[in-house]
Amino acid sequence: MPSTQRYVPRTDTDQSIINHQADLKSCSRCPEMIQPVITGTPVASSIMIIGQAPGIREGDIGRPFGWTAGKTLFKWFSSIGVDEAQFREQVYMAAVCRCFPGKNPKGSGDRVPDKQEIATCKQWLEKEYQLLQPKLIIPVGKLAISQYINAKKLVDAVGQQFVIDTPNLQADCIPLPHPSGLSTWFNMEPGKTLLQDALRLIDNHSAWKEIK
Ligand code: SF4
Repeated sequence: MPSTQRYVPRTDTDQSIINHQADLKSCSRCPEMIQPVITGTPVASSIMIIGQAPGIREGDIGRPFGWTAGKTLFKWFSSIGVDEAQFREQVYMAAVCRCFPGKNPKGSGDRVPDKQEIATCKQWLEKEYQLLQPKLIIPVGKLAISQYINAKKLVDAVGQQFVIDTPNLQADCIPLPHPSGLSTWFNMEPGKTLLQDALRLIDNHSAWKEIK
């Protein structure tokens, strides 16, 4: 169920993020995408997590990572000292695309957003970089990782810390695999060890220490 708690802005920056999310929630720029637009808490965080796109359940639930993949993801973060409630209040939750792309017509799982949709939705992300000036980006899954890191495979990205230095974004980047139940990568070696390495890097990051 969508949260009925009213979010009270704590700073001017929060108010600008609330305004930003109000604009974002009314977006319907991609004809194939299925609304509603899913956003997280409008928190002025120095950490951003970037998912791929909401799944079919998130529309009813009204928040990102609200279903089974989220259970796994929040178990990972709990293991390094931040539970789901705290995470949702302290980390800015974004995605490559903010609407449900629909089911994959050719197989299992959800349709992967196309290049045009990714480029269109990136405008919202760029605005968030500007508002939040994040110190740590956590991309989750191959599509999100590929927006920041030039790595062909998960083994080339997960378990390492990267530096993003572009005109619009200067931040550290620590990728995670997608916690989808369809993936076995993080339960088998080398994924199992690389996931633990990535979580250790996040746990040691100064931005994470600020929210613990
Ligand atoms: S995916 Fe992004 S750009 Fe496309 S309609 Fe949804 S919010 Fe707008």
